[in-house]
Amino acid sequence: MATAALNWGDLPTNEKKLFPLRKRTGTAAFHLSKDAVDFGAEDLEKLTEKQAVLLMAETVWGSTKEMSCPHCATFDAHYFYSRELRWKCKCCDKKFSVTSKTVFADRKLSLVKILKIAYSWANGASGKPALQLRRDWNVGYPTVFTLVHKLREGLLRGFNVGVLCGVQEMDGMDVNGRRYREKRNKPQGGGGAAKPKIPEHLLKPRVDPETGEILGPPKPPKFGKAARQPEDRRILLVMRQRGVAKGKGAVATRIAVAKTESAKTVTAMAQQYASAESVICSDEDPAYGSFWRLFSEHKSVAHSKTYSGPNGANNNQAESFNWRMRRAVEGIYLNPSNKYLKDYAAEQAWREDTRRLSTSKKLRHLFRTVMSVGLSDFWRGYSHGKHREEELLIEGAVPAKGRGRPKGWKPRPPR
Ligand SMILES: [Zn+2]
Repeated sequence: MATAALNWGDLPTNEKKLFPLRKRTGTAAFHLSKDAVDFGAEDLEKLTEKQAVLLMAETVWGSTKEMSCPHCATFDAHYFYSRELRWKCKCCDKKFSVTSKTVFADRKLSLVKILKIAYSWANGASGKPALQLRRDWNVGYPTVFTLVHKLREGLLRGFNVGVLCGVQEMDGMDVNGRRYREKRNKPQGGGGAAKPKIPEHLLKPRVDPETGEILGPPKPPKFGKAARQPEDRRILLVMRQRGVAKGKGAVATRIAVAKTESAKTVTAMAQQYASAESVICSDEDPAYGSFWRLFSEHKSVAHSKTYSGPNGANNNQAESFNWRMRRAVEGIYLNPSNKYLKDYAAEQAWREDTRRLSTSKKLRHLFRTVMSVGLSDFWRGYSHGKHREEELLIEGAVPAKGRGRPKGWKPRPPR
């Protein structure tokens, strides 16, 4: 017996859509296409150390024959010693390798291993934990930890630079010091939650212990917003340039970390990364109030009322970055310290901006950027106790709070 085939078109449809569907950007289709993966782990497996060195030379110098000497900057066809895998400068007679005077200088890992670890790190959509890399590639944790942080440093100093122009979207998100402190070491469901207290302002007035003077009721916490903010809270500011191709999303991202989202910090960031001719889109935060004077145009969107205002007034690309950052911070890196928050944000900015590059192009872009910044400022000598001491805020560098043992700590004497 033949039954009439039921057509999807015959099914009753709800004509009125409940919310505006997001436009498709084609990124998902790209990731499933052949073009996305043109290079794999197997290709790296075949590489000999010499091939890796020549591949890297081609990547950072654009040639395996002619390059500029990292010691004296002479550009020439320097002598190649294929057994040492190094070159000798025709001018200053000093020898150099492809990683001399870069963040990978004095490396102990082979270049093939660095490539493998970096390849695997670069392919994570929102990041890849150092512990997982350690398990995957059987290297020591300190080794892989400093290696990926050197990649982040390269991106922070080599990628998060330069002025954007056109239409930029700006936003801030709070990171750290907000939820995880309250939730740490407590079972879910409030088993260990503190008992509700009588609010302080409902208690009897405070009295000065010396003079006996009544100081009045404590200020209700509701009105002291700054006092309620945890000290560790940071604002991650992001600025993203909209692409010219419509519907393809943002094309360039810059990040900064601040203690507060105030007129001073957002203006400092915008003036660092946006040209005067820029059009800036932001939310209704009063911190952006003076932008109409500083840039050619300022559009703001009231998120409480609408998803996107007229004439493209929205900062949804910036919100999209925040979402990716949130996933990385809470799901992959498990609350990085404030000291290195900017490094992690620079990594996410790079991941977001290279999302439509194929695996080989992404790896090449990573090494070109990272190896352009010179020696590592933050990680050189890390294993010998030379650590970066400051937190890089847009307000200026401040001494970072250490997570380790306090200064002057001594082990307890044996009993
Ligand atoms: Zn030289």
